[in-house]
Amino acid sequence: MTTAANAQTDWKLVIHGGAGVIERDRLSPEKEREIRAALDQALATGSKILADGGDALDAVEATVKVLENDPNFNAGRGAVFTYEGRSELDAAIMEGETRKAGAVAGVSATKNPISLARAVMEDSPHVMLSGDGADIFSREQGLEQAPPEYFATPERRRQLEEMKSNKLSWFDVDMKYGTVGAVALDSEGHVAAATSTGGITGKRWGRIGDSPIIGAGTYADDRACAVSATGAGEFFIREGVAHEICARMRMKGDTAEVAADAVMAEVAELGGTGGVIVVSPQGEAAWSFNTPGMYRGKASAEGRTVAIFGDE
Ligand code: ASP
Repeated sequence: MTTAANAQTDWKLVIHGGAGVIERDRLSPEKEREIRAALDQALATGSKILADGGDALDAVEATVKVLENDPNFNAGRGAVFTYEGRSELDAAIMEGETRKAGAVAGVSATKNPISLARAVMEDSPHVMLSGDGADIFSREQGLEQAPPEYFATPERRRQLEEMKSNKLSWFDVDMKYGTVGAVALDSEGHVAAATSTGGITGKRWGRIGDSPIIGAGTYADDRACAVSATGAGEFFIREGVAHEICARMRMKGDTAEVAADAVMAEVAELGGTGGVIVVSPQGEAAWSFNTPGMYRGKASAEGRTVAIFGDE
């Protein structure tokens, strides 16, 4: 007889590396190969943990770290610049079993902000730390620190210069995406979510997006689902996207796909673009986006797939 305590679930992992105007004629074959390889490596890292019976929480942290370390994505190394040319990084992590969560906003020196978010969750009495205080906490926790040059890449500098010289708005679609996220269901039936980002190119005045806000860009609840979002953060905050998807599943009985599509449609009605990834304790693994493309991937015991364009 199988009891709840030793019930084995089929594990699932879903990732994103940002959504936006990602179309075939805008991505060189080399870039496309690099991105697909990076997504696959991230999936492989998280899959190994889950296949070995590890926790969803460990899997999403390790998966997001791979993407933070890859300069192709807007998180950790390769994060977009603020208007002043700084890196101010946001990240959040949440565990569905306990609904414990940790988040950081505007941090500038931690190599892997997702691990700092986890330290806030596990080693502080708080859910969210920001700015200098979060940087101090990071050093006190002995997390690996990195200098500003580590995060900076020539491509992100070029994007900032282009934005300034063309007087583009923050929401000019091409320049703001690349946030990374992971959601996982482990073999014990628990879910977790993690999101990490540099925010949007040219952000000012200590702007914080949806990614580190629990319930907006990141949420996990074993009673419903785990969600990580990417897109124009202000709209995702106003919609309460990640919590709204979980609430629809928990209280309305929506499937992950129906809930994700419905909430993304509401984001679109507000004028927002982007996407979400979702897993549920029942083994659903879904994504939904209203942009031409989203860097994304799924893994389970059956294998791994990555996709970029909307028609894949
Ligand atoms: N959602 C992020 C933010 O608004 C940006 C992104 O997903 O690329 O900070």
